[in-house]
Amino acid sequence: MGHYIGDQLLAAAGARLARFAAEFGHLVARLGGDEFVVLVEDTNCVEDAIKVADRVMALLCEPFRIECRDLAMSASVGVVERTVADTDPSDLMRAADITLHWAKADGKARWRVFDPKRNARDIARYTLAAAMPGALERGEFGLVYQPIVDLTDGRINGVEALARWHRPEPDGTLAPDHFINLAEDSGLIIPLGLRLMEQACEQAASWSDVAAPAPFVSVNLAVRQIRHPDLVADITGVLGRTGLPPERLQLEITESAAMDNDDETAAPLGELANLGLRLAIDDFGTGYSNLAYLRELPVHGLKLAGPFVRRLRADAPTDPTDRAILTALVALGHTLGMTVTAEGVETAAQAAELRAIGCDMAQGWHFGRPVAAIEEAINQPHPVDGRLHRPDRAAAVRPAFRRLASI
Ligand code: C2E
Ligand code: CA
Repeated sequence: MGHYIGDQLLAAAGARLARFAAEFGHLVARLGGDEFVVLVEDTNCVEDAIKVADRVMALLCEPFRIECRDLAMSASVGVVERTVADTDPSDLMRAADITLHWAKADGKARWRVFDPKRNARDIARYTLAAAMPGALERGEFGLVYQPIVDLTDGRINGVEALARWHRPEPDGTLAPDHFINLAEDSGLIIPLGLRLMEQACEQAASWSDVAAPAPFVSVNLAVRQIRHPDLVADITGVLGRTGLPPERLQLEITESAAMDNDDETAAPLGELANLGLRLAIDDFGTGYSNLAYLRELPVHGLKLAGPFVRRLRADAPTDPTDRAILTALVALGHTLGMTVTAEGVETAAQAAELRAIGCDMAQGWHFGRPVAAIEEAINQPHPVDGRLHRPDRAAAVRPAFRRLASI
């Protein structure tokens, strides 16, 4: 709208606020830019301050007549209510600023009330985000591996690599839900993802002389990694350095990233498939899939999200609708020429039902928890005939790939 009109609009908004404040005995001041502060004294409860916020928002929503034009605006408000005795002015203003930021982040044109718990969570997130680059330098990020089992014969077809952050005590090891999104926001996911992929491929390559078929390693890719221009070159570099054959690397991409129907994601996925890598859609069924587009994607597998498997309950007969949904998802994958893997399989009954449905592979605590090394993932006890059976440690580790797990 141009500086001149913008300044006039700001002045008109300030004048309107000043009239309102004078009428009700509040103090209003402009902090800078388009930010104003209203001091409301003698409130009895936070609702008193919220009423003022509602009035201010309604007031500023009324169009402004500037240069013969009606201009509309909206306002976001951060509400902080404090007793005077416990209040340090700069702390109060910081809290107001934070709360205003929440109101904007939550969708604008709304008020938010200061929440000490949300503030503590935010501080913890910032602290963690700030610690990440140093942690990457010090090598605090690592992987654990969880077996992916063939439901037809119990063989371990592959392992999924799952990130962990080994923080110094008292924090201990953090699961990826605590830090992958932070790394995505900051962009650190690019060097972190590459480092993790290198680790996973290095471990998998050290198992290359096993009897065929050697297990693949499945690595999760964040959306930002998929859109990074160096993705294909980086992965080619990792495969070259580690010597892992491309067909032994699977990349897991989220449904929403896979469905992002633009050249920035479609082109690299095509190139990766051409290199001979396997591509799988992670948590399938929880997002929105365009089936016509899914058919065109160079994807080899679908991983059915844990919630579908959790519906197969041990304590009650499976709801026929739940079974029908799972059957349809497996059939959809097969129709598209993909293998289907069920995630989060925790019981023998779930494994049996999935096998009866025709699901190809499965992964979950029933078959093995994520563990520190691929070798360990492959050799941890697998349940056989409903009993826990620890494989014979005297047997060479390598033939373990051929060992049958119960299904
Ligand atoms: P995901 O890819 O869906 O991974 C499966 C999650 O389910 C893992 O949690 C795994 O430990 C857990 N899980 C496995 N079996 C069972 C089971 O039987 N029952 C239950 N309740 N859970 C089971 P985790 O390791 O905490 O990973 C969480 C998510 O973090 C992953 O979900 C994945 O989306 C993301 N993630 C993990 N590692 C990476 C990584 O290296 N890069 C990226 N971009 N994302 C990662
Ligand atoms: Ca995954």
